[in-house]
Amino acid sequence: MKTELICVGTELLLGNILNTNAKYLAEKCAELGLSLYYQTVVGDNDARLAEMIKAAFERSDVVIFTGGLGPTSDDITKEVVSETFGLPLVYDEKAADDLTKRLKRLGVSITENNFKQAYVPEGSVVLYNHNGTAPGILIEKNGKIAILLPGPPKEMQPMFEEYCVPFFKECSGLEIDSVMVKLIGIGESSAASKIEDIIEKNTNPTVAPYAKQSQVHLRITARAESSEACRALIDPVLAEIKARLGEYIYTTDAEKDIEDVVYELLKEKNLTITTAESCTGGLLAGKIINVSGASDVYKEGFVTYSDEAKMKDLGVSKETLEKFSAVSSQCAEEMARGAAKAAGADVSVVTTGIAGPEGGSEENPVGTVYIGVYYDGQTMVKRYSFGNNRQMVRDAACVRALDMVRRAII
Ligand code: ATP
Repeated sequence: MKTELICVGTELLLGNILNTNAKYLAEKCAELGLSLYYQTVVGDNDARLAEMIKAAFERSDVVIFTGGLGPTSDDITKEVVSETFGLPLVYDEKAADDLTKRLKRLGVSITENNFKQAYVPEGSVVLYNHNGTAPGILIEKNGKIAILLPGPPKEMQPMFEEYCVPFFKECSGLEIDSVMVKLIGIGESSAASKIEDIIEKNTNPTVAPYAKQSQVHLRITARAESSEACRALIDPVLAEIKARLGEYIYTTDAEKDIEDVVYELLKEKNLTITTAESCTGGLLAGKIINVSGASDVYKEGFVTYSDEAKMKDLGVSKETLEKFSAVSSQCAEEMARGAAKAAGADVSVVTTGIAGPEGGSEENPVGTVYIGVYYDGQTMVKRYSFGNNRQMVRDAACVRALDMVRRAII
């Protein structure tokens, strides 16, 4: 089905908010096999919205809208879409009831205005909202489908999953299944070039690469009459991708991030870990602690930003710091051994580098980070260059540090 997306909101046009709904819905459309050909952003203006809707339905079968379903007079999406379809707005008892209960529970006083949200286009399917007050709406008329979703992502996403995913699956009569292959240590273009033939040859399943922060994700999506049939299509392609890119793959579970995988490995092998951080300043410890159950594997860590702290907490020698400086493989090695010893941990992972934007030298320009991992009596140190954006350097260092731990343990 030819599909397009219209995101409504003047805030989006002004750049006050990022259009994350477009990203989410575009990915979902790809997964569902919907051909998304256009995305538009339009302000809270009924004439321009009406113009967009007219153009959209001339070229598309499905139009998905987000935003503008609120109770105020500038929330106009439902009114304009209903008018385009020639459908009057009718009062929906359940929507009104849900709204009253929700606002009472939140202790918010109800005004007449709120009940604007209980009116829906006649004959539409109401997508009741369990996370907010604006119900979504699905209209099917004259071979065209309009789906209206609320703007806030925490309302829009669960609503899309609950109502729209099953709706589109039923329309196609096919199951859709996908596997997410997550890689660290290879760039998007290198990964894509190693599997270029697989990407080009396959239409079912499709293989789509996405560049993430310091990672590459490949989504393999199949459409077939059952989920078993989808897996039968996916498995040989997944096996071929693993054969070519296996060393970079840390998971094929869409829900997991690198810290989850590291946590599971540590837990499985009954190991504890500590961190000693210079340029990442606690970010790495934070990532590990983000995993529920982290206290099983993580007892303590160190933020050793100054040379003094590196000597005091980790036992890095003065000579090493004077001779090689803190941003050196020698220092990273001593930090790694010292941290494991000081914390009594089986594994340690350390960072020392120049996050920038100031500083750096010819030898160690901004973005240089040494990452050290101590495990089983051995220390491994690697030098990386992560560019010159401070936040990106720190984030990238954490991702690579966790991946080094994964590689050391396996
Ligand atoms: P509400 O019921 O909360 O009024 P609504 O459907 O009227 O929802 P809007 O008023 O258009 O939605 O937007 C409400 C908020 O939702 C925005 O302030 C913004 O935080 C978020 N939002 C809206 N559109 C988008 C978008 N395209 N991407 C990300 N966030 C969005």
